[in-house]
Amino acid sequence: MRIANHDGRAVLVIGESGSEKGPEKGIDIATASGGRFGPDLSGVYPEWDELCKWATSYDSSGASSFPIDRTLLGAPSPCPRQVFALGLNYGEHAAEAGFEAPTALPPVFAKYVSSFSGPDTTVIIPEGGNVDWEVELVAIIGRQAVNISEAAAWDHVAGLTVGQDVSERITQLRGPAPQFGLGKSYPGFSPQGPWLVTPNELANPDDLELGCAIDGEEVQNSRTSSMIYPVSKLVASLSANVTLYPGDVIFTGTPSGVGIGRKPQRFLRPGEHLRSWISGIGELNQTFVAAAAATS
Ligand code: ZN
Repeated sequence: MRIANHDGRAVLVIGESGSEKGPEKGIDIATASGGRFGPDLSGVYPEWDELCKWATSYDSSGASSFPIDRTLLGAPSPCPRQVFALGLNYGEHAAEAGFEAPTALPPVFAKYVSSFSGPDTTVIIPEGGNVDWEVELVAIIGRQAVNISEAAAWDHVAGLTVGQDVSERITQLRGPAPQFGLGKSYPGFSPQGPWLVTPNELANPDDLELGCAIDGEEVQNSRTSSMIYPVSKLVASLSANVTLYPGDVIFTGTPSGVGIGRKPQRFLRPGEHLRSWISGIGELNQTFVAAAAATS
């Protein structure tokens, strides 16, 4: 099952671009369920198990559908109670950042919801900022989780989506202790989408190719099987410390290839286009603009 946030409403996604099934179309979940679920995404996650049961038995063949308009897509979980992000969850990225690969839970920080957006956006480069890219698998919680085992963890995950943990490195690293949450939460710095994909749609949800490219030049490419803490271990570990709620969003860390780890360092410039993808899920498209251009 794929679920999108289309113009603020929860929709089932059917069809697939480039296949005989035709381009993606949406079915409004509130309408199709006679008002049982939705209308928005925040109303869906608290009832995730019931929604999955309903969707399994729902016959979409006669349902009225509409073409998905990517410009209307928002983040699949637009107002989670909590947003977690991981640092150093891939060994090669830890090395390029100058750290040993973590042997315990990698560093966890917050991204703030005000930085959330849908998949295709324009992002303002803060004045004087060194804006960097971090393609990441994002997991969204579907069931409250407290101290759960690794074996039970996937049962608590509603699905996966593509995320960019856009990062302004000067703010992030300034001061006596790093300011990860602020440096990674400028407006538009957490694009996600294009939709949530349930784990059962993927041949192996623990081994997905992910990458990103700037104006067609690939800068990151890895597989989620290289994570030091894969989704199951990560969800179980977080749940030993905090209560995870339906709709909570977890950015699971980025592989190597970020701009700050390059020699010479490289950051996003006005006019550059960043495409980010994960196999089996979809892609994000961000165009970066100067602060002055955006306000004039
Ligand atoms: Zn990150």
